[in-house]
Amino acid sequence: MPTESDTHYDPSLGNKFIFVTGGVMSGLGKGITAASTGRLLENAGFDVTAVKVDPYLNVDAGTMNPFQHGEVYVLKDGGEVDLDLGNYERFLGIDMTSDHNITTGKTYQHVIEKERAGDYLGKTVQIIPHITDDIKRRIREAAEGHDVCIVEVGGTVGDIEGMPYLEALRQFAHEEPEENVLFVHVTLVPYSKNGEQKTKPTQHSVKEVRSIGLQPDVIVGRSDEKLAPETKEKIALFCDIPTEAVFSNPDVEDVYHVPLVVEEEGLDQYVLERLGLAEDALPQGQRASEWREIVTCEKTGTVEIALVGKYDLEDAYMSIHESLKHAGFELGVDVETRWVDADEMADRHVERLREADGIVVPGGFGMRGTEGKIRAIEYARENDVPFLGLCLGFQMAVVEYARNVLGYEGAHSAEMEEDTPHPVIDILPEQYEVENMGGTMRLGEHTTVIEPETLAYELYGDTSCTERHRHRYEVNPEYFEDFADEPFVFSGTAGNRMEILELEGHPFFLGTQFHPEYSSRPDDPSPPFVGFVEAVLERTGAGRDADTEVTV
Ligand code: GLN
Repeated sequence: MPTESDTHYDPSLGNKFIFVTGGVMSGLGKGITAASTGRLLENAGFDVTAVKVDPYLNVDAGTMNPFQHGEVYVLKDGGEVDLDLGNYERFLGIDMTSDHNITTGKTYQHVIEKERAGDYLGKTVQIIPHITDDIKRRIREAAEGHDVCIVEVGGTVGDIEGMPYLEALRQFAHEEPEENVLFVHVTLVPYSKNGEQKTKPTQHSVKEVRSIGLQPDVIVGRSDEKLAPETKEKIALFCDIPTEAVFSNPDVEDVYHVPLVVEEEGLDQYVLERLGLAEDALPQGQRASEWREIVTCEKTGTVEIALVGKYDLEDAYMSIHESLKHAGFELGVDVETRWVDADEMADRHVERLREADGIVVPGGFGMRGTEGKIRAIEYARENDVPFLGLCLGFQMAVVEYARNVLGYEGAHSAEMEEDTPHPVIDILPEQYEVENMGGTMRLGEHTTVIEPETLAYELYGDTSCTERHRHRYEVNPEYFEDFADEPFVFSGTAGNRMEILELEGHPFFLGTQFHPEYSSRPDDPSPPFVGFVEAVLERTGAGRDADTEVTV
């Protein structure tokens, strides 16, 4: 009977691990710091992957409220995960799977299932070694086949939930040769009233890390400005690491500039040397510089996009914000996205929308805000304002057209109004039974067939596209024929599922049942977003004021 620590991983493969913890407070951007370091290691020629540890008891992020946790990010394999994984995918240019998100729920569920199946042969099942072994196994498996694996532990050192993970990392480091594991601790360096950088919170948090048996190899101080040399020295002295191992990570105007700052500080080079990778790395002058060129590209102006959603929280629509920015990199324009409260749209929608150059209606669940979204779509359709509808935004575009063009009074999605006389959006007939048994969501990557000579075809340049999904409802097949007349076109389909809609004769009116925002990358922007921003630019001329200044 194999034990939990038996894996098919061969340690002689020699993967390198960077373990990232956070101190003082959460939300410091340790994920961005870690992902930026990873990007630089990639630029130096290494294959990098990442694991995000979320110490909460939820098995996955699927049921979590975006207002509390930010958006639910969807992976290729349908995994519903923390939005930090989106950052890793965007910064590293990789596609991850659910195995790259370890949660307490997942780990305990697995161990308890094994216990029920009798796999532990009557032993007492405990956090150490059974849970910690399972955590180590998951990390090793996710790292397999990659040169470097970054493991970020969510939350802050000292949180009760994080303890088993830190213990697992301690054991992990003990089992590995020293040059294979590097601990990075990211902390906050605040300022006193007279503008002095204070190191005491960092000292305390490192003390906490050490009490668990871990010693940081590298400390990254997050602050408004760079750390002063005295600050670095003080941190080094009190936290018992060389001064060269203390790095600044000051605030920047754009997260995509963090790799540039990290490189300037020399963090990547220090990590390469410490992990014994420096000799195999590309010489500094030959490292990939595409990222720098993209994120510092000249901008010829600014466009303003209205995002008509439920949540007044940028994180709740993070991938959409990022995708619009990526399109901006491609087209050399700053894209400013402003949230417009879908709830408040009913009366004042026109003035809110008039200020915008384009309108995006994002995904969502539940009735709240849907009437406002429908009004925004009506406004975009009637006034030739570029419109991009994503998932629920696509569904509401179908509802809007049914109500206001086809004249189906009271048309709606059955999700919002069970008794609507015209359920133009509904559960597919074949799904009904499954739904009654607890419901299934259509998740992850699926292929859409694209009609030639349509806007969708022009955007994707292909007769198909493969994008990520997260929805339960669909366009109701009983109404397909009603939508068969111009200018309305379903230009993308997957069997009897409608995937893309567009309006002929409109400058840009596109809805997608899928979520293109999850596969957009700074260096590989999503076609619907590029097309949308391009249409916005055409409408506004070259964008608003020219502002070519780039600050790093
Ligand atoms: N609530 C809709 C559905 O379940 C749309 C989901 C979404 O926008 N992600 O089909």
